[in-house]
Formats: sequence, structure tokens, C-alpha cells
Amino acid sequence: MTRPPANTMRRLLPFGLVLGVAVCGTVACQVAEAQSLADAGGPRRTTDIELVSDSQLIAGSIQPRVTLDGMLARYEVVEHDRHALVAAVQRVFDVRRVRVGQRFTIDRLFDGRVRSLEYEIDGDRRLRVLADESRAFTAVIETIAKEITVDAVEGRISKEAPSLTQALDAVGERLDLALAMADVFSGELDFSSELQPGDEFRLVVERKTREGAFAGYGAILAAEFVASGRALRAYRYAPSGVRPAYYDEEGRSLKRFFLKSPLKFEPRITSRFSSARRHPILKYTRAHNGVDYSAPSGAPVVAVAPGTVTLAGWTNGGGRTVRVRHNNGYESEYLHLSSLHVRAGTRVSQGDLVGKVGATGLATGPHLHYGLRKNGAYVNPVVEHRNMPPGEPVPAVELAAFVLERTRLFGLLQPAAARAAN
Ligand SMILES: [Zn+2]
Repeated sequence: MTRPPANTMRRLLPFGLVLGVAVCGTVACQVAEAQSLADAGGPRRTTDIELVSDSQLIAGSIQPRVTLDGMLARYEVVEHDRHALVAAVQRVFDVRRVRVGQRFTIDRLFDGRVRSLEYEIDGDRRLRVLADESRAFTAVIETIAKEITVDAVEGRISKEAPSLTQALDAVGERLDLALAMADVFSGELDFSSELQPGDEFRLVVERKTREGAFAGYGAILAAEFVASGRALRAYRYAPSGVRPAYYDEEGRSLKRFFLKSPLKFEPRITSRFSSARRHPILKYTRAHNGVDYSAPSGAPVVAVAPGTVTLAGWTNGGGRTVRVRHNNGYESEYLHLSSLHVRAGTRVSQGDLVGKVGATGLATGPHLHYGLRKNGAYVNPVVEHRNMPPGEPVPAVELAAFVLERTRLFGLLQPAAARAAN
């Protein structure tokens, strides 16, 4: 086969740079490889490089204000193929619905003809266009194959990996899984101060893959945390007519009426609830009607329990403030926020985002002031959270079904060695 004129490649490469697109033609790569061998003082190879490819694979994403036809023109696709390809696509997919940022791959011959094109319509579908020998194009929409597998993950808190995030990172898992695990045990364990080297955990989690590549976690089905010799276990179970939740061995809910705090990881308290303290800005003594949590600006603040937003706006001293009314005469409040994510009247579930940490109002720096009122009077939230009863247990009529599911999940939780021995 003939080597393409060198200027073709030089002309194409700048396009890749301008459009932020990776262009790596097989030929171009082989040439580059041969060149680097020569640079390295290796034997000059003249005859043993087989240039098998006559085309270039162009991969990129759709840019703003570019039509499919315009995009093909940018890559110097010949006019006949541009029109025939667009017409073929139009028979199965409305070309005006090509979306900015979606990925595509074009297999393009060096003379400007197209061999094939792939375009990812969305997370579930892909458009594939193929040319035959007579330069006719056929377009089809394919379903992208997805799979959910159930995997066991084990990890260990150590000096090198003192947090849950680091311990999961050490076994190749991601931050999302640490957040999900912290959520499961949020009423039971303080992940910022109660972990010690030697603590161990295991969990069984759904893992989504898309054509072999990781595509996110599903639900954690079971989890065990052995902290300072105390084993905490959680099993996911859905009593009929109720959303899935986590329960302990006896079927008691791990969910509390209140979350342990309105921040994701149990944060450090920098100022406690008190009936009298000297205010750092106002410089006179007055009650501190809540607790201050040290947290970076922008950290998500969530509702501690389900309820209705009664205020989302500016208050004197509190800056951007959210108040949520709950059952049993409780009202929670979140002060000094940098942004609000709810409006007065919004219904929120436990754990829903209400705003982000900031330093608005009377604040010396970014932190969250969290307050709780019961029947109109401020109470100490830390004490109140601890004393509130847990959520509903598995109903008595479903205990037998729960025990079956718990036993199955417990088996999956066991270390691989123990499973093999059984
Ligand atoms: Zn405060």
C-alpha cells in the first residue's frame, strides 16, 4: 500500500488540537514510533514497518453550534460521503437532536471517505453508521450493553489509610462508595473520630459496568464494620410497601429520626451549644443557640430529617438561612450558607441538599451553624439527636422473610477464604 502524503497528516493534526479532539491515526502513530526509535539511537528501521492502515480513527465530542454535516466537513470528509451519511442517519435518528458533549468516533480514510461513524446518543443508545463497497451508508441504533454484578469489598483502617475514604481508595474503590458506606452507618458511628488502625470492614455492593467499563455503584446490599472490636452490621431490606432501608441483625432500623449531623462526614464541632458565651464578633456574652461545625465553603448541607422548608432567605446575623419544620414540634436551622438549594414550602426528605456551607451574615469564616428548636425553644441538637428513637423496625409479619434475606447477605459478606471452606 502507499504511504499517505505527509502533508495530509500535518493538516489534520492542528484540527485535533483546535477542537480539543484526540486524533491518533494508526499510520501517524507508527511513524511517530519509528521516529522515536531513530531518535533513541536504535537501529534505523526501513523495511520492517508494515503500514497496514489507510485510515484514521478520529475520536471527540460534539462541539457547540456544529451540525453533523459541519462536523464531518471539519474533518475533511468528502462531500458525497457527508451527504450520504447524514441522509442515512436521518432515516433512523433526527440529526437536529445531536447533543453537545456527546462522544463520536469516525473511521476516515486518508482520501476523505468515511468507513464508519459511531455516535453515542445517550447513556443507553449508540448510533452506528457503516459504508459498503458501493459507498452507500446504513445507519442503525444499538443498545449499549449494561450489567450489574454484586461484589464483595474488604478493607482495613491503618496508619497509612486512617480514614474510610483512604482505606477504600487503597483497595481500588472510589469516594462515592465511602460516602454511601458512611450513610449506612451514619446513626451508629462517627467516621471522623471513632476509627482506629486495625478496624476492618466488608461490604457487598452492586457494581454497574457498561461494556466492561466501570459505570458507577448501585446499592450497598450489606455492610459490616468492626470498630474497636465492636461489630456493626447492616442489611438492606425492603418491607412491602416501604422503600429499602438498612436494618441490624434483629431487624431494627439503622435509620434515626435525625441524621447525626447536617454534613456528610461527621464534622468537627468548633463551638458547642450553650446558654451563655461571648460572641466572637458582637463581643458580648449571649447564648449560642446551636453548634458550629468546621466545614469548607461549598460543602453540602442536608436536611437532618424529613419536613417542610419554612424559610429560605436572608436573616439578620444568620446570612443565608434555611429553616425546616419536622414532625413532633421540631424545627432545624442552617446558617451562614453560601447558596440556597430549596424554597419556602419545599418538601424535603432526610438527607436532601438544602444549601452549601458559606460565611454569610455574622461569621468570621466558612462554617455551619446548626440549630434545633423543640416547640419553639432552642435545644442542644447533639443531645436531642442522640436521644431520638430509631426508625420503624421490620414489621413482625415480615421477620421470617427478613431473616432469610439477612442469611443470604451474611453469606456474601464472609471473607472469600471462609466462603471457600464451606
Ligand atoms: Zn454558631
